[in-house]
Amino acid sequence: MSIATGIGYDCHRLVEGRRLVIGGVEIEHTHGLLGHSDADVLTHAIIDALLGAAGLGDIGQHFPDTDERYRDADSLELLRACAAMLRRAGAEVEHVDATVVLERPKLAPVRDQIRTTLAAALGVSESRLNVKATRGEGMGFIGRAEGAAALAVATISHEP
Ligand SMILES: [Zn+2]
Repeated sequence: MSIATGIGYDCHRLVEGRRLVIGGVEIEHTHGLLGHSDADVLTHAIIDALLGAAGLGDIGQHFPDTDERYRDADSLELLRACAAMLRRAGAEVEHVDATVVLERPKLAPVRDQIRTTLAAALGVSESRLNVKATRGEGMGFIGRAEGAAALAVATISHEP
């Protein structure tokens, strides 16, 4: 069995009048993330990590933000499509770890819900997917709550 890892990073601007969707869960807040799709920063980082581990390029290649099909897209659908791509390539998701970097709101109350939602979309048990959250401590674009970022690392296996 061979093992491969991939890294993913994403960021989106926080603006008034948008839904805040993180890890497929809509969170009540004054601001939401701006993007062509639902701008689910965490799900996008995880997709990039998975595609990276599988050697399948990046999210922009598969789901271009110039494509009208992906306007306001539910990023969980993109994650499901990504999981299907990996399965077709003979890859199994061993583990995903991710960190959301967001000044507010606090993600602790919804972290378990995010984990359950993402694991279900990916088709893995929750023990294979971990979500963490941290803040910008008042520094930079995250600290000023101008945007949010997410990082992810995915580990996949291939049968020889
Ligand atoms: Zn994104």
